[in-house]
Amino acid sequence: MKLNRKTFLKGLAIGTISLPVALRALMSTGHAQDNSDSGTISSKKYNWKMVTTWPPNFPILGEACQLYADLVNQMSGGRIEIRVYGGGELVPALEAFDAVRSGAAEIGSGASYYWAGKAPAAQFFASVPFGMNAQQLNAWIYGGGGLKLWEELYRDFGLVPMAGGNTGVQMGGWFNREINSLDDLKGLKMRIPGLGGKVLEKAGGAPVLLAGGEIYTGLERGVIDATEWLGPFHDSMMGFQDIAKYYYTPGWHEPGTALEFFLNKGQYDRLPADLKAITRSAAGHVNVWCLSMMEAKNAEALVRLREKGTDIRAFSKEMLEQLRLYTEEVISEITEKDPFAKKVYESYDAFRKKASDYADITERPFYESIQII
Ligand code: CA
Repeated sequence: MKLNRKTFLKGLAIGTISLPVALRALMSTGHAQDNSDSGTISSKKYNWKMVTTWPPNFPILGEACQLYADLVNQMSGGRIEIRVYGGGELVPALEAFDAVRSGAAEIGSGASYYWAGKAPAAQFFASVPFGMNAQQLNAWIYGGGGLKLWEELYRDFGLVPMAGGNTGVQMGGWFNREINSLDDLKGLKMRIPGLGGKVLEKAGGAPVLLAGGEIYTGLERGVIDATEWLGPFHDSMMGFQDIAKYYYTPGWHEPGTALEFFLNKGQYDRLPADLKAITRSAAGHVNVWCLSMMEAKNAEALVRLREKGTDIRAFSKEMLEQLRLYTEEVISEITEKDPFAKKVYESYDAFRKKASDYADITERPFYESIQII
């Protein structure tokens, strides 16, 4: 079907005329169900457990899980109750995926790059160094075929994925020496997980894996020379500004990390259509809420960091260009070995190119224009 200006306008006109009819139909359906014992809404109750990769009540990310549970509960009139467990409370954080697969829990929350060891393609739905930002990644997931591929990948694990938040562009990290060129990365022991860590390794650095709770003392005692974490809000809660000299931008390694909910597919498939829609609708709400909270809290935290005199630096263009080339090597090594990862990345990268081209004539000139002010 060809959509041109004429059919588009025609469609709009029909939409305008039929909207009140659709609304009346919707209202009358609700009315009938409210007053009839023979209504189609099942009163069956579901008691679910949500396992998460976040520490219990972790600001924004953990709070998003509770928000999801509350929304699903309220929208379903109490038919789905979800109890949220922080990482380690029911199962260890990085066992959340398997716990939901096995049915030990019905739903989980995490970031899909944690499961790269099980399926290399998974990480492309979370974050790719020098890849898409939050807005572009959401555009690919919802509007560019990304979700279909994500569902295809998780189907093999008996799971249903849903986008459930985003960190926005992260910061480049905290360093105790100036990083002016690639030479300064040589031998640098840095806490940086995932693909970013692999890129750092190619640049001669030494990525170190440390759990959240170990990073501060690791940096303070010189076990690591540098660390990345999230953005000004979470980073300043960790206290990195007190023990590191420089705060670098941008977070080239995580330009907008997507968070996810994953549901046990057997459980999901058994839900009546309205509850299925509620589980997806709540995820959509949390997806927006999470990114919005990140932006709001990071902007506030940056004011405080600046007031305290935090030395904010930018990586050089030349260095970032080199890291971008290393990133291409890292991704090729992954996609050469795994056909599904290749398929996902081809879709991701084709969309990224179009989105970048569009941003080049919209957001880039816009940001450049407000720099003048
Ligand atoms: Ca990070």
